Amino acid sequence: MAKSVPGGWNPKHWVNLVPTGLGEVKPHHFREMFRAAWENRDQLGYAWRILRDGCCDGCALGTTGMKDWTMPGTHLCMIRLNLLRMNTMPALDHTLLEDISRLEGKSGRELRNLGRLPYPMVRRKGEKGFRRITWDEALDLAAERIRRTDPERIAFYLTSRGLTNEVYFVANKVARFLGTNHIDNAARLCHAPSTVALKKAIGYGATTISYSDWIGTDLLILVGTNLANNQPVATKYIYYAKKAGTRVIVVNPYKEEGLERYWIPSVTESALFGTRIMDEFFQIGTGGDAAFFNGALKHLVETGKLNDSFIREHTAGFEEVRRFVSELPWEELEKSSGTTREEMRRFAEIYADANSSVTVWSMGVTQHRNGTNNVLSIANLALALGRIGKPHSGLCPIRGHSGVQGGAEMGAAPDSYGMDRPVNEETAKAIGKLWGFPVPDKPGMKASSMIQAAHGGKLDVLYSIGGNFLETLPDPQYVREAIARVPLRIHQDIVLNPQMLVEPGDPEGLVLLLPGRTRYETPGGVTETTTERRVIFSPEIPGPRIGETRTEWEIPMQIAERVHPDRAHLIHFDNTAQIREDISRTVPAYDGIQRLREKGDNFQWGGPLLCEGYKFNTPDGRARFHIARLPEESLPEGRFILSTRRGKQFNSIVWGEHDSLTGAKRDEIFFSRQDANRLGLKEGDPVLLRSESGEYRGRVKIARIRPGNLQVHWPEGNVLIPYERFDPDSGEPDYNAVVEAIPLRNEETGGETEADDAPASATGS
Ligand code: SF4
Repeated sequence: MAKSVPGGWNPKHWVNLVPTGLGEVKPHHFREMFRAAWENRDQLGYAWRILRDGCCDGCALGTTGMKDWTMPGTHLCMIRLNLLRMNTMPALDHTLLEDISRLEGKSGRELRNLGRLPYPMVRRKGEKGFRRITWDEALDLAAERIRRTDPERIAFYLTSRGLTNEVYFVANKVARFLGTNHIDNAARLCHAPSTVALKKAIGYGATTISYSDWIGTDLLILVGTNLANNQPVATKYIYYAKKAGTRVIVVNPYKEEGLERYWIPSVTESALFGTRIMDEFFQIGTGGDAAFFNGALKHLVETGKLNDSFIREHTAGFEEVRRFVSELPWEELEKSSGTTREEMRRFAEIYADANSSVTVWSMGVTQHRNGTNNVLSIANLALALGRIGKPHSGLCPIRGHSGVQGGAEMGAAPDSYGMDRPVNEETAKAIGKLWGFPVPDKPGMKASSMIQAAHGGKLDVLYSIGGNFLETLPDPQYVREAIARVPLRIHQDIVLNPQMLVEPGDPEGLVLLLPGRTRYETPGGVTETTTERRVIFSPEIPGPRIGETRTEWEIPMQIAERVHPDRAHLIHFDNTAQIREDISRTVPAYDGIQRLREKGDNFQWGGPLLCEGYKFNTPDGRARFHIARLPEESLPEGRFILSTRRGKQFNSIVWGEHDSLTGAKRDEIFFSRQDANRLGLKEGDPVLLRSESGEYRGRVKIARIRPGNLQVHWPEGNVLIPYERFDPDSGEPDYNAVVEAIPLRNEETGGETEADDAPASATGS
């Protein structure tokens, strides 16, 4: 239910009196809106219908048209407008693909901008490019190879940009129909630790609150997240939360400009004078989350500021955690968190003094080898004060892609056939009975392990629906070698990306490009699940259709039907309504999805407040405390801990060379002033970063980052990230590395200039 809006303007929250932030480093929303309209000028009517009637295919806040269920008024942002062109652009000239050398060196952005993939195409080992084929040929080629492949050597990977619940569910079913549990989705690269930790703590791997709980909470705590960049309309919720008296706390190694102040275009007061967002900032070191929140809990234990009755009546396991944090020396907590005990105590006091709090986090917390422990430490603190399961209090692992919440819940995961359907012998029997065919009962490989298997020559088929491992996984050289070794790669997508162009190395190597349709082009409409667990219907939007593209859910189904024609009826769906019927039978929490038919139809699984009344989804109904261990790595003298960050981009989709929130160029390396001075560096100086996996050349940007920490843009910085470091509990890659920073003279930069669009230079070793 949308919140009513507290009225009146409040100059206390203004950034300054300069209208529209003239002269500030900030996004120029209105200019960018005009540019988006110009880009879509050949399909303006269609673009408008997508915006008016479709669910946004950007982040997972979720919309119906340009409205949401949180606040009245328009819900629209530049991410959505920038993505619009992918839905409206014409087909690429497929003959360009006949000679790959013409495309070599093109960036992901340049390849994407060539246009939509219109036809199925194939490339064999030794061929210089792709050849157009018919759908029959493509499906037969795929089916024939898959039929003679051991299912243990087949893997599926699904991205989360724009994909829908229906696609994930059909892919889940197809993988199991073919006999493999090796299926994973892009949540593995973002919120897998949140899912694992929250399932352990409260029995649900999802956000416990609704966005409307932000408005009216005493404290909104933002950890390792940059909403202004990744979920921009969330800043509108914060604007109204602040009007309702919410205090905003940011915990991060870098003082993000977009979390300090922002100009919200859909709110006149904010568009004119800006909004100061953060009230308090706690600067920790990269990977310091578990120590920071354990330190805060230690302080609460020492001062007795705990919610004893909640702990006693609704939780289990506190004694062990109490002992653990009590015995953690403050010196160790300070070293690991990167901040002082006074700061941890100050944070704990603010937290304990509030009556309600919502903690929001994202990749800064999870993309770490200690990711699951980081999230457990956040959950422990919330449980210690009884801040889950009551209005305006809870946990919110905010998702970056529209598809990502639904991906695992629909069973596109190696360890579940769907939410609350874990892969094991007992569930396999139940699912086999429900679906009418046997399903494998041992957990499959996670995405990161698929690439390791490919590198070791243990994978024969990799079916990617969207996705670009070359840019999204660490160590691109390793990934390139791995995917080249897979004899059959199927890339089902709407546009080209660099991964598709990797030549197969196997003598029988084959790459198939299968052109899919977008969610807006899907007859019968589709659904997605938002961060707040809202399952929303997105109708088909009338408009142009591209070449011979096929609906995304149909393609894997049609391949599976050809693999086992005798059993084809067991995997067949006629339309998306039938898929939703099957989802409602397979995933009980999604009961209701079968009734979604029109724009605006929606429901929230679990209700607006998960665990309401302190009912947790565990065998005894109690939440669980778990020891949240600190990371073990220590930083060698003179080295830096490097992490990766987003610039002007949406996840791995880079829009521009210059980040209008931070003012940084893509090749800039964020240094604290203190570290730069120590190395004799000044703004713009060239630097070489070296890690155990590669080298990266960039330029110094003096930034408000904690000394000892550096940041570079992602995915360029992936060359510095060793492949084999994962969070052991969730399989999430650790997108951080220990690096050496070597000042270069200008002539050592390989001829790079200080021009605005100078690319970062990176090499893997
Ligand atoms: S904030 Fe997210 S859901 Fe909302 S319009 Fe932007 S990308 Fe779409």
